[in-house]
Amino acid sequence: MNYKKKTILDADLKGKKVLVRCDFNVPTDADGVITDDSRIVKTLPTIRYLLEQGAAVILCSHKGRPKNGYEEKYSLKVVQQRLSQLLGIPVDLASDVVGPEAQAKAAALQPGQVLLLENVRFVSGETKNNMELAEKYAALAEVFVNDAFGSCHRAHSSTVGVTSFLPAYSGLLVKKELDVMGKAISDPNRPLVLIMGGSKVSDKIGVIDHMLTLADHIIIGGGMSYTFTKAKGGSIGTSLCEEEQLDYCLKLLKKAEEMGVKIHLPVDCVCADHFAADAEPVIFDEGQIPENMMGLDIGPKTRENYAEVIKNAGTVIWNGPMGVFEFPAFAAGTEAVAKAMAESNAVTIVGGGDSAAAVEQMGYSGSITHVSTGGGASLEFFSGAELPGVAALLDA
Ligand code: AMP
Repeated sequence: MNYKKKTILDADLKGKKVLVRCDFNVPTDADGVITDDSRIVKTLPTIRYLLEQGAAVILCSHKGRPKNGYEEKYSLKVVQQRLSQLLGIPVDLASDVVGPEAQAKAAALQPGQVLLLENVRFVSGETKNNMELAEKYAALAEVFVNDAFGSCHRAHSSTVGVTSFLPAYSGLLVKKELDVMGKAISDPNRPLVLIMGGSKVSDKIGVIDHMLTLADHIIIGGGMSYTFTKAKGGSIGTSLCEEEQLDYCLKLLKKAEEMGVKIHLPVDCVCADHFAADAEPVIFDEGQIPENMMGLDIGPKTRENYAEVIKNAGTVIWNGPMGVFEFPAFAAGTEAVAKAMAESNAVTIVGGGDSAAAVEQMGYSGSITHVSTGGGASLEFFSGAELPGVAALLDA
């Protein structure tokens, strides 16, 4: 995939109306209060840059998965308020996305002002990349900017369709994602270490297969590691296992050996007799788990082994927790990887989703080179797939 794209730093923005696709899909609690505003905060550099350049800024985003038009709980009103506080200027909201109100407000918008459109998924057609809808977005502005990396793996009207009608640039957040992750796969500091965890092998096959051609080491942890252990003939008790992937695991191990890629599997694990936060943790060697026990985290020897590989790495890419990190008694493996990455001199990249949540929660995100804002998008990126939202931007 060509990820060398024109950015807003290349665009003539003075006096222009600029439509920016953001990722304001922020989590909210039962009262609708934002519980984590980092997605809004991460878009501020782009918005501020556009305002400084003399643009009139029209922002749009999805939030959640509304099915039948407007639903209060998916409204961007909460984003409007928080954004206005963070920017220190009023932010107007167009309640009809691309209707008469949005058109009138966009037409009247002056350089230095900010307008937010309501949730793009309130309009049918958005997620089908409907071109009539895309044309309506485009009619509001003269330039399009994509700063929603987390939505770049989806071809929707506000990520792809709109680029057929307007010159399309990346925002500063998407630029950073592409710069750091692009270098990691095209010209990495070596050794390049891929760390894969999470519950299922089947979700990560695309990434593992593609990275096998690029990485020097692949570290496996989390629920998915037990399918490898079973494939090698070990006992895994009641641990997670995907029977239909046993063959794949064996083929992968063989292929890695042929290609000179070192695969690291757990040598011990922290187990329990049931899946609960207060279950008693017991350590077993990998492949020696009794029938009534399940593996819920990598063990202490494995933590040391993995930390050593990370310490000696030039680049580390991590996706998926090493265990059930949501339970403190089974979070040590995930924490050990996060800590080793934070202390390493390597270029360190955390793909979004659970591993990003873990490094934030454990306080290591400030010492990681790049925590991606796109879980699904970064997985697609590292599987070598073309991200439609990126492909649609102007080539540099
Ligand atoms: P994924 O969405 O596939 O990246 O998986 C993330 C989830 O996998 C997290 O919620 C973890 O709690 C869970 N997980 C990690 N390791 C294990 C394990 N050994 N057993 C069960 N669940 C696990």
